[in-house]
Amino acid sequence: MAGKKDGKFQVHSDEVTKAAHNALERRGVSVEAIAEIVFEMQEPFNEGLQIAHCIESVESVLQKREMQHALLVGVELDELAEQGKLSRPLQQIVDTDEGLFGVDEMIGLGAVLTYGSIAVTTFGHLDRNKVGVIHELDTKAGKHVHTFLDDLVSSIAACASARIAHRQRDLEEKGQGFKDIKPEETAPEIHVEGTDT
Ligand code: MG
Repeated sequence: MAGKKDGKFQVHSDEVTKAAHNALERRGVSVEAIAEIVFEMQEPFNEGLQIAHCIESVESVLQKREMQHALLVGVELDELAEQGKLSRPLQQIVDTDEGLFGVDEMIGLGAVLTYGSIAVTTFGHLDRNKVGVIHELDTKAGKHVHTFLDDLVSSIAACASARIAHRQRDLEEKGQGFKDIKPEETAPEIHVEGTDT
């Protein structure tokens, strides 16, 4: 799927969205696994929060181009490193997740900026205390390379978590909470392309 604009081919958003979802799936990370991290972080502060609210929030974050592009770049580099296809010395640096290599963190951090300061601090928290599937990715032995993926998953979880925190305040101001709303009602803004938080 591609259209032409100013003589250049433009990839359709649907194709990018699909590719981003495929990338996660291919690397064995489910939306549910990311939602579990969000639930664990947000449940103590949000009465009535259900895992379904968290799944909806993760799905919404995955609609963002900023996140989709980060996923495509990071997953591609992990996969190329896994196949030994990067050039030297980048191959060795990504393959071994070299301690001073921080480009993976920067891609994850860049993608959370849209969701504000809570997302940034939550990303920092997840980067240090790798929980759930992030821990699994970080410790997976063998030929797998997850140098970029652990940061991308932290980034998605941090954004989804920030959305819930902001939504909770909006609900509070209406005298409501997550206990009062069905998961599909948590993101009335989801279809406003590129502007929802
Ligand atoms: Mg990393």
